[in-house]
Amino acid sequence: MTSQTTVKTLLILGASGDLTGRLLLPGLARLVATGRAAGLRLVGAGSDPWTPEQWRERVHQSFAASAEAADAAGRTSLEDLEKETVYHQLDVTADGALAAALATLEGPTAVYFALPPRISQLACETLRPDQVPAGTRLVMEKPFGSSEESAHSLNQTLARLVPEDHIHRVDHFLGKATVLNILGLRFANNFLEPVWNRHHVEKVEIIFDEDLALEGRARYYDGAGALRDMIQSHLLQIMALMAMEPPSSISERDLRDAISTVLRAASVGAPYAGSTHRARYTAGTLAGKEVPDYAREDGVDASRGTETLAQIQVGIENWRWKGVPFILRSGKAIGVKRKEAVVTFRPVPHLPRGFTGVDSPNQLRIGFGPDTLEFDVDVNGPGEILSLSRITLEAELSASELLPYGEVLEGVLAGDPLLSVRGDTAEDCWRIVEPVLKAWQQDSVRLEEYDAGSAGPAEWSSTARAE
Ligand code: NDP
Repeated sequence: MTSQTTVKTLLILGASGDLTGRLLLPGLARLVATGRAAGLRLVGAGSDPWTPEQWRERVHQSFAASAEAADAAGRTSLEDLEKETVYHQLDVTADGALAAALATLEGPTAVYFALPPRISQLACETLRPDQVPAGTRLVMEKPFGSSEESAHSLNQTLARLVPEDHIHRVDHFLGKATVLNILGLRFANNFLEPVWNRHHVEKVEIIFDEDLALEGRARYYDGAGALRDMIQSHLLQIMALMAMEPPSSISERDLRDAISTVLRAASVGAPYAGSTHRARYTAGTLAGKEVPDYAREDGVDASRGTETLAQIQVGIENWRWKGVPFILRSGKAIGVKRKEAVVTFRPVPHLPRGFTGVDSPNQLRIGFGPDTLEFDVDVNGPGEILSLSRITLEAELSASELLPYGEVLEGVLAGDPLLSVRGDTAEDCWRIVEPVLKAWQQDSVRLEEYDAGSAGPAEWSSTARAE
């Protein structure tokens, strides 16, 4: 597959950064190797005085795995991009610096802000609308702002420069395949829609439990915590896909309108000591390795009380979902990795007398990365025919041949903001979590502890599979 992109030049600000080396360039490499970025130019920029060779070497290293796996045409595309890529030394916060760099590039340009959030904001503030060539796309990383107010102010800064559909607020967690898999399951199967509501659904859980600890990321993570890092940015987006009304098309406007409408109806109810939980891991063992107490990790300020496991119960005030809890949970250093959305259905209204055994609620589970589908149903048992037995129907959902950041970049380069978080939604996600953050700051909710490698505090409402 060979396809020309709308964008001619990809300018990565933060050329020396972790995101660029570990995720962005490898994601781009796979995209280029599969022929989906023909004619693209790559420009790196940073405040370090790098030689062109230093930048090229960085690109080469990050492209290596894709080059090895690519066919001859793919390798040639990667080599061409490597040969032509250039590096600009610039302090993006200096007046006129970013504007001058933009003026030298062949447009349309996508500017990827792989920078600390504060620096991205300052860089945008240095730009005047007339210094941003028509067609320019601005790609903003998470976190987008740090509150509803700051997200709003950043939105206003960006809106002065380019139209909303040229702003890509990245949510790499939701790869395109995952989003489309959820939409396909929900809206291409008539048997689901009649039961996808408060009359038949008991609860919906969206869980992202990692079996990784801090991994040296204290500088970022200790200032963020699980609620900001995962729930505010990613899990609310998944919740929106699970809960939204059917859009009339899978286009950026219809889809993002539907996401926005359902999120506007969402909130976390007080008292927060009942609707939310937070905890921090203590020393333990994870995959056979000793993990130190989070509070003693290098770079952690224990007095901040940063949570490494967060759980909130969100309510959606609309006709379909009134009264159904949406439980969003994410944690680090959890013994068993779990990344899934689980829909638990209500029990049958009446189980005919004569059946024996337990009638467990049906559960539909959508696993993320790799995307899977599991459906738990009760069937007549083997041996004793009226004894109920639990089985699971399982399927693998389609996977993308791109890496998550390749999917993000594909949308950016093609000028398609389908997967980008829209400005109003970015603000709304902060609106939903802000009262919780405030309650936690005031210590209205106890900071609990759990051993690294455990399943988290046992008394939190069960998120386990129904037996
Ligand atoms: P790093 O601290 O590793 O890199 C930041 C980059 O910004 C460096 O290349 C640095 O270059 C550059 N920079 C800083 N100040 C300036 C300046 N004034 N002018 C030009 N360049 C500057 O950060 P990350 O790569 O980890 O993160 C970047 C963004 O991506 C953040 O918003 C983060 O939240 C987000 N993100 C990161 C993820 C990750 O796994 N790393 C995952 C998801 C999102 P120099 O050293 O030359 O100054």
